[in-house]
Amino acid sequence: MPKAQLQYLTTELNRLRDQKLYQKLRVLESEQLPVSRFDGKEVINLSSNNYLGLTTHPLLKKKAIEAIEKYGVGSGAVRTIAGTMTLHMALEEKIARFKNVEASVVFQSGFTANAGTVQAVLGREDIIISDELNHASIIDGCRLSRAEIKVFPHKDVEACEKILREISGRNVHKLLITDGVFSMEGDIAPLPDLVRLAENYGCIMMIDDAHSSGVLGKNGRGTVDHFNLHDRVDIQVGTLSKAIGALGGYVCSTHDAIDFLYHRARPFLFSTSHPPSVAATCIAAFEVLETEPQIVEKLWENTRFFKDGLKKLGFNTGMSETPITPVIVGDAALAHEFSLQLFQAGVFAQGIGYPTVPVGKARIRTIVTATHTRDELAGALDTMKSVAEKLRII
Ligand SMILES: *Cc1c(COP(=O)(O)O)cnc(C)c1O
Repeated sequence: MPKAQLQYLTTELNRLRDQKLYQKLRVLESEQLPVSRFDGKEVINLSSNNYLGLTTHPLLKKKAIEAIEKYGVGSGAVRTIAGTMTLHMALEEKIARFKNVEASVVFQSGFTANAGTVQAVLGREDIIISDELNHASIIDGCRLSRAEIKVFPHKDVEACEKILREISGRNVHKLLITDGVFSMEGDIAPLPDLVRLAENYGCIMMIDDAHSSGVLGKNGRGTVDHFNLHDRVDIQVGTLSKAIGALGGYVCSTHDAIDFLYHRARPFLFSTSHPPSVAATCIAAFEVLETEPQIVEKLWENTRFFKDGLKKLGFNTGMSETPITPVIVGDAALAHEFSLQLFQAGVFAQGIGYPTVPVGKARIRTIVTATHTRDELAGALDTMKSVAEKLRII
């Protein structure tokens, strides 16, 4: 039954339909694979963040099942009451060793890791300096902290320094925060320069490595390893939901900073911890990163092949340097039409428009994985060529 007090939501949805911005959820009916079945159709899947194909890795599945048999399906409480299990502690130790840091804490998601950490660490009197393209979870964390937020243009080191110079007289906590790899552009933050600025101006340096964990650095250790910035970044966030193949987020820092988050990060205190199967899966994923580095190499081989192919076809791939390659078409309705026709032709690449990306920068976003075959990627390029020519995109 329609309810008068909710009518405005229906109006808003109709407005999205009129603007061709309404999106129906695509339903995955198989495992998350390089070729998957969505909405009854087998398609080459260029839309997952399953960079290393770990969602279906035999060892991860086995460890999840064993954990269910031994520990059940749920943790039954938040971490700070009765919901810290041996497996949670083992995962945090595993991550800290892998990342070569003092300590780590695991959150329910990368989103809660960012939002919970920024909110806990900064207060009303403090200042956050943030790249304009930082992820929504960082933006929400900044807002929740109530600190003053100063945004610098994307990757603009000079503009960032200008802000830092202006606030250099203010004796408050300052946080310089950036994505390591930007999720819509696929480009890498200028970390050596930003880290130097953070050091010079006495800022806490925080990096969100959601799209770099398992992708950049030795064995997929992330951007800090990629740029050799060990011990110079105060807080590193990563996700367990993308390349790691399961679900969750983590924060790496000093013992005391992590202990502080145990006491003050609201998602940690007020939301139930991971089921044991998820923790066991993630532990196994880090073992795979340590023992099967060739998967990461394969990811980059596929990335080079696909990116070169897109460029040769004349697509605008923006500033991408990683397995995330946007194909920018400009108009949102055109991006959604491109995505729709690609899907009908057997390639799934999601259309993305405002507000996820700026007006006029609408795109489809492609992400290759280590498990795509050459034939699949070449087939996707062929399909993209013919659909784009039909739509006069190239
Ligand atoms: C996906 C993403 C997150 C959130 O991670 P989840 O584990 O999916 O919640 C955080 N930051 C960035 C940059 C991301 O791309």
